[in-house]
Amino acid sequence: MKNCKEFVFSEKKVTVYFDSLFFDLEKIIKKGDAVLLIDENVYSIYSTFFIGWKTIVINSGENFKQQSTIDEVISSLIKIGADKTTSLIGIGGGVVTDIVGYVGSIYMRGVNTGFVPTTLLGMVDACIGGKNGIDVGIYKNMIGTIRQPAFILYDYGFLDSLPEIEWSNGFAEIIKHACIKDQEMFQYLESLSFNYFRENKIALQALIERNVVLKSKIVQSDEFETGERKLLNFGHTIGHSIERMNEISHGHAVSIGMVCATIISEQLTGLKKTERLRLEDLLKKYSLPVCFDFDKEKIIQNINFDKKKSGDDISFVLLNKIGKGQINKIALSELTQLILQLF
Ligand code: ADP
Ligand code: ZN
Repeated sequence: MKNCKEFVFSEKKVTVYFDSLFFDLEKIIKKGDAVLLIDENVYSIYSTFFIGWKTIVINSGENFKQQSTIDEVISSLIKIGADKTTSLIGIGGGVVTDIVGYVGSIYMRGVNTGFVPTTLLGMVDACIGGKNGIDVGIYKNMIGTIRQPAFILYDYGFLDSLPEIEWSNGFAEIIKHACIKDQEMFQYLESLSFNYFRENKIALQALIERNVVLKSKIVQSDEFETGERKLLNFGHTIGHSIERMNEISHGHAVSIGMVCATIISEQLTGLKKTERLRLEDLLKKYSLPVCFDFDKEKIIQNINFDKKKSGDDISFVLLNKIGKGQINKIALSELTQLILQLF
């Protein structure tokens, strides 16, 4: 198929089909050899796409990213008669990717998986890198594995039905990538706008592809997150904590988390205040929040359950300058003081 790239990871080669159509899926895998696990909203909007495929519909939303959903999906797979040769194909946003990646890694000790991301966040972030998993109560992504899919297929047409808020959620991760690794992309985003990308398909596709390559390269260099990959957590320590306490979407929480991390960077890396203001302006330009009246004590409490914590320290991502992230080990007691001084 046209415009296809391969990324080699430690145990698997992932084929990425950019600029494809959902119907190309049949060229990659026979209908009889796959089970499609589909987000319920995607299923209802695009139901005719799935005729002739074996399907399992997954409830939409982070609240269903729990063990009970995994149990249901596994029961359905057994009922359908899925075996070791069956491929599980996730069609939806980050929640579906997480669930399908996880089920795929444990069902019959592991079956092939593939993804068709249908949200901007899924396309630029969640479906890349092989991280999967579920929440345990309010604690995010506590259980899961790192395991690459066999392929990812991009049909940008799915974005036509994407709700407004999901667009800004996706841009939060794109801006994150620009902050930690790609100053040019940061400037490029500054020079354009939210609506420009929503209306200009060619530019949007190129932007998505650029982000896929950027994230894939980071993951290739450190698949199991011992160093470099941690950069992708920029904005996520405080972000996840805010997300857990409030009814706020992931991208919006990460946006606030990135602002907090840049304020902290001003103190720890000497990041210039003008750079932080540039980031705030860019986030606003892409319909993202830059502050929130949150309970700092609760934020600090939540950080104690963060996976990035080890002992009394936490790996915290700071900016050296725009386009250059750095990972610092910070004592939790110091981070507590820094958070108390925010805003
Ligand atoms: P994320 O990719 O941000 O992690 P989710 O998997 O939680 O997001 O999906 C966000 C919401 O968008 C869900 O309610 C889901 O049903 C919905 N959704 C996903 N893809 C589409 C689409 N292409 N069109 C409309 N709604 C969609
Ligand atoms: Zn994220």
